[in-house]
Amino acid sequence: MGETKLDRVVEELLGEVAARDGVPAVLEATWDGDTQGWFLDLALICRLGDGDGESRYRRHYLRSLRFGGDIRLFSGEVPPWPEVRVARRLWERLRAARDVELWLPAEEPDDDCPGWLERHQAIACRVCGKPILPRVSPHVPTDVCHPCTHERARQARVQIDYEAGDRNRALFFTSLRGSEIVEQAKVDEIGDLGLHLGGRELFRFKDRIGCARSSYTCVTLAREHVAYLLERLTPRLHGLVAYRDPPPDAGQERGGVIRRRRPFTIGDAPVVLDLNDEHDQWIARLHRLIELLRRADDELRVVLVGNEGITPRHMAIMRPLKRADGHRLALAELAKKLLPELGGEADLHRSLDALAGGECVAARDGHVELLLRGRLVPMSED
Ligand SMILES: [Zn+2]
Repeated sequence: MGETKLDRVVEELLGEVAARDGVPAVLEATWDGDTQGWFLDLALICRLGDGDGESRYRRHYLRSLRFGGDIRLFSGEVPPWPEVRVARRLWERLRAARDVELWLPAEEPDDDCPGWLERHQAIACRVCGKPILPRVSPHVPTDVCHPCTHERARQARVQIDYEAGDRNRALFFTSLRGSEIVEQAKVDEIGDLGLHLGGRELFRFKDRIGCARSSYTCVTLAREHVAYLLERLTPRLHGLVAYRDPPPDAGQERGGVIRRRRPFTIGDAPVVLDLNDEHDQWIARLHRLIELLRRADDELRVVLVGNEGITPRHMAIMRPLKRADGHRLALAELAKKLLPELGGEADLHRSLDALAGGECVAARDGHVELLLRGRLVPMSED
């Protein structure tokens, strides 16, 4: 908006202000929105007579300023929001003649903010400190403003996206008797565990078991860690079951689609899950993980293994071991297969040490053997 047009809006508003009763005390500018986007409501609070309290004030609506609609978000025109500039310009002009206060609780669109007459009911946003009316939704914090809630969610997503790079996709919960694998539940770290626990909770958990910082992840879960997971995942499972869509009647099923149905017992209730349904697939996977965690005891231990920190170089070393009899090769033979591709012997030993540190391989008696983790790390068969 050019300066001339801006001045014209201010002139029009000054005309409207002059036509109001009472003594102008506050110029109020608060955001509101509709399906077309955001607008700034301008009102003039005037003092009438000399009485006490808020009742001697009258609020006169002036007009709403809506300049560009949400399209501006894409064209990069905002912020600063031109509506806010007009409100400030108007206030400067008013203030030159009268002692008028500006009430502009939010510089960016936010309809949680109170008007001037509601200001005593307001609380400060816990994050940015701006005055807001306490929010009533059960799904959002009551004391964080809308943009701050949105920004937090965005940052959490960025953090998860970053952590969920190629190095860090799958976690394997494995119950072991000795070194024998009894059962295994593979979960996608972000898709399954991240969503069930919540991103922040997941990072807290990984930190707690000591795998947030190590590049290799092969951790035997202590009893308290298993309990920690069960405590959070079990209610989540029951929640997912409670929010299932009712299964289609036999008569409503579309012909030709073979439904994969499987009976489960969740809590005390028998449930038939439809494994063609994405929601039910989630339930089935989470159920499997919980059953596995429940079986952890003195005899069975649960190991969490991730493929974080595994490089293509490591994969290249583990691949021939995976194919070998007993997952075991003489070091000399392994070296012959891998050198010179992977550099000199010193380089190979460095990589083997790293893999041994991550419990992927063990080197003894001139042989290298693939361990638990190596068997679990998904490797392409090329
Ligand atoms: Zn805030």
